Order: sequence, then structure tokens, then C-alpha cells
Amino acid sequence: LRDTAGEVVGVNVVCQEITDQANTEVALREADRRKDEFLAMLAHELRNPLAPMRNGLEILQRVPGDSPIAARTRDMMGRQITHMVRLIDDLLDVSRIRQGKLSLQRRPVPVREVIDAALEASQPLMDGAQHRLTVSLPDEPLVVDADPTRLAQVLSNLLNNAAKYTPDGGQIHLSADAQGDEVRVRIADNGVGIPPGMLPHVFDLFTQVGHHAQRAQGGLGIGLSLARRLVTLHGGCLRAESAGPDQGSTFTITLPRLTDAARAAG
Ligand code: ADP
Repeated sequence: LRDTAGEVVGVNVVCQEITDQANTEVALREADRRKDEFLAMLAHELRNPLAPMRNGLEILQRVPGDSPIAARTRDMMGRQITHMVRLIDDLLDVSRIRQGKLSLQRRPVPVREVIDAALEASQPLMDGAQHRLTVSLPDEPLVVDADPTRLAQVLSNLLNNAAKYTPDGGQIHLSADAQGDEVRVRIADNGVGIPPGMLPHVFDLFTQVGHHAQRAQGGLGIGLSLARRLVTLHGGCLRAESAGPDQGSTFTITLPRLTDAARAAG
């Protein structure tokens, strides 16, 4: 700040603002770090009681002479525990990624192998809703440098969503192909679709489209955020398309393709 004669009359206010801004940034980073730590601790605490509960159910399964209603109740409890474990594991994974603590166990892996594992993991949900699932894969081997467990987790998450957000009897199509030096995996459904305004946000943590029928499906809005973070860790990208409500949705993963030449050079 200068007076009319050009004399510097003060710099304090400017310095103060910069300091405030720097302080705010440090405080925000610290708050973020504490939030991540809390999230991780919460997830651990919530997960701990689930292991003995699951073991207890397994023991009950072996008790002879169960009545049909007891068996049905036990199965329902088993499904709910599995659902909770999945939600909490997703939460733990997100906090691990945010803290830079999630490492991938990568190896050259055929995409077909990953797809088979994902289909197996998603089978119960698919069967329950009676969707028509079609799969088309090329004859040529498509190999990627990936952590097969993590990639199967991403695909199974997208398949579960396709089943969740597609009314009974709907159609789900999974396909993979090569696009130049990339492998593309797509999961398309003809379900409830996504409004155009929400498309850029479905990958944000804790974001749900909020449609009434969809909220009835539960969930926390973690799955897609986690899926995108995992695909990004693999050097790929995950995007969503939908022509709008009731027009279905398509999720596309692209990953660098591992060709024979790249492997020989690698
Ligand atoms: P959740 O399913 O637990 O709500 P996700 O992160 O997996 O969380 O998904 C975020 C939101 O994106 C969902 O709440 C849903 O509104 C929307 N969504 C995800 N997949 C689909 C799909 N296949 N069709 C329509 N909407 C979808």
C-alpha cells in the first residue's frame, strides 16, 4: 500500500491474508487427515463384531433339526452380514487409498480371468433379480497389467450396481474388446438410468442420485468412487454414460493393453 506520494505505508494486511490462507489450508489438511483416520477407525470397529457373528451363524447351520423358519432367518442374517462386510470393506479401501496405503499386487492377467471372477462374485445378486445377463468377449487374448482381485472387485461392483438399478427381468450386457493399445470393458444395463446433471457426480464419494426407487436399494454412495480410484491406480479410466432416466446406463473401463511386444520390452 502506497500513499499519494508513492511511499509504502503498509504491507501488514496483505501478509496477514496470505498467512490466514496458509493457516486455513494447513487446518483443512489436518481436518482431512483426522477425518480419514476416524473413517478407518470407525470401519475397523464396525467390522470387528461381524467375524464372530458370521462364525456363529456357521455353527448354527450345523445344528441338526432346524425348522424352516429358523433356516430362512439364518440365511437372511448371513446375507445381511455379507452386505455389511462389503460396505465396511469399501469404506476401509477408500480410506486406505486416500491415505496412500493401498498397494496393488499387479501381474499380467487375461481380462477373461478377471471377468469370470467378477461374474462368480455377482452371481447371487443376479440370480435373485432374474436379470438376463449376456457376455461377449473376443477370441484374442486381452492381457492387462493388473491386480486381478482389485480389478474383479471393480467389475463385480459395476455388475452389482447394474443389477441393483435395473428392474427385475432387465438386461445387462458385459463386453470386452481391444481399442488400439487399450482394453475396453463395458457393462451396460437397460435400467433406471442417470439424469444428465448427475452423470459427472456419480463418482463423488457418498453421492447417490437420490431417486426414490433407487434410495430403496440402500448403499452409501461409496462403490463408484472406490471403483474409479482403483481403476485410476491401474493407470486406466472409468466413465459413465446414460441417455437419462429409464434409458439405462453404461459404465466403461479402459486400461492399457499389455501386448506381447510390451511384455518383451518390459
Ligand atoms: P450406492 O450404489 O451404494 O448408492 P455407488 O457409488 O455404487 O453407491 O453409486 C452411486 C450412485 O450412482 C447410486 O446411488 C446410483 O444412484 C447411481 N448408479 C450407480 N450405478 C448405476 C446404474 N447402473 N444405473 C443407474 N444408476 C446408477
